[in-house]
Amino acid sequence: MTAPDINFLTAQAKKAWPQWRALSFKERGKQLKRFQRLFSSQIDDVCKLMSSENGKPRFEALTAEVLSVIQLINWAVKKAPKILKKRKIKLALLKYKKSYLYFEPLGTVGIISPWNYPLSIPLGEAIMAMMAGNCVIVKPSEVTPLIMKKVAKLFEEAGLPSGVFQLALGGGDVGQALVNSPYVDKIIFTGSVATGKKILKQAADTLKPVVLELGGCDPMLVCSDADVERAANGAVWGCFMNAGQTCASVERVYVHHHIADSFIEKVVEKTKKLRVGKDVAFDVDVGAITYPPQFKIYESQMQDAIFKGAKILEGQTSFHPPFVKPTVLLGTNDSMKIIQDETFGPFLCIQVVYDEEEAVRLANENQYGLCASVWSRNLKKARHLAQDLEAGTVVINDCSFTHALSETPWGGRKMSGMGRVHSEFGFYELVHIKHVNEDRGWFKPLWWYPYSERKYKLFKFLAKLLTLK
Ligand code: NAD
Repeated sequence: MTAPDINFLTAQAKKAWPQWRALSFKERGKQLKRFQRLFSSQIDDVCKLMSSENGKPRFEALTAEVLSVIQLINWAVKKAPKILKKRKIKLALLKYKKSYLYFEPLGTVGIISPWNYPLSIPLGEAIMAMMAGNCVIVKPSEVTPLIMKKVAKLFEEAGLPSGVFQLALGGGDVGQALVNSPYVDKIIFTGSVATGKKILKQAADTLKPVVLELGGCDPMLVCSDADVERAANGAVWGCFMNAGQTCASVERVYVHHHIADSFIEKVVEKTKKLRVGKDVAFDVDVGAITYPPQFKIYESQMQDAIFKGAKILEGQTSFHPPFVKPTVLLGTNDSMKIIQDETFGPFLCIQVVYDEEEAVRLANENQYGLCASVWSRNLKKARHLAQDLEAGTVVINDCSFTHALSETPWGGRKMSGMGRVHSEFGFYELVHIKHVNEDRGWFKPLWWYPYSERKYKLFKFLAKLLTLK
């Protein structure tokens, strides 16, 4: 598509919207469940397609994408009617008046998504937007458009009214046209910080609200009392799954010096055992690098890290696309690009720290704030550390998986973005929150005209009274 095609899509969405928004939650849910059943009947084809297009093992396509979307549909269909139900607000004063909240759909929501999770990110957001009563236009990454094309076909087969779910297929110019369109009411963007900044600037022209789900460089804090075996397994999975191309992958490990030796030994041993390659017979742990320009980033960050003193414990410095051998580095520090920036590849950086306080300080001294993890047998201590971390999500004794929990909020701080998807907070991003206040008209409010000294004294008395509460 080209940018002018967006006009056609927005017109189609506008046509479909009145009928779609007029449906009850139950009726919308029925239609999405019909899609879910069709989708579920084709799991093998879907996983195969995703694996061939994106390079991830079919097991990851199933667990991180298909399964999480199926669960999200159940959650959204069940919870939307409760979360978005008209509700009364109890007023502290003026008890004779009544206030209600209404959650009204926005209209057309534009969803712009990246190539690393080409199904679960755009489809999850689309499902929630549609359940809330919106029409959606999804722009998948131009690097991985096929899986959403398949989804669009399944929606059609499931009988979803035309214009409710549409695809904008194309590159950055098509995404930009969505952002610029006066007929798109909100943008839910997931992608790089650089594009996120452009979108925020562009959206200012139409004062369009945006949710930005951007990059991460997630820290993992391994405390002195951590279960070392579990932490090592977690670090290896959290960093190398999806070949490290996960916004919430573990990139920086801060391990307490008391347990550092055994932790590092285990991480290296487990990394050596990972099977890298193309998924032919479910015999692969780490798949391909989806987008070739990533290799330039890897080369530049690795050269910089080695030049500044990092040691490679496992892995390689020269790459043979499309695969990268999972790499473990020791002695990284925050002067290095690999620590300052997102790598988005299978590179695990380990730094030994003196104590947990140092780990928290280093974890927070970073431009990103998406997720973080704390590993400790002492939950009280771990919860305390979790509060000190500047991240949208902190996971204790696990990592990198909570995007799959549709009932929990997903989003970052600092350069990792703004706004939330999933959970009730994600639903609130997809509606206008309207307040309606009612008065039966029996009394004339005292603050209306005419003003007088007597009234002034009365309200002053009230102010004093409230201060005593
Ligand atoms: P990207 O920013 O290059 O592209 C993302 C999408 O934006 C694509 O569909 C692209 O076509 C579109 N786009 C490009 N220029 C645009 C413009 N000017 N206006 C509108 N749309 C435009 O990102 P990517 O390389 O596809 O994805 C990798 C990045 O995504 C990483 O930084 C990763 O951390 C991030 N990511 C974040 C999350 C999260 O939830 N926080 C999840 C997955 C990926």
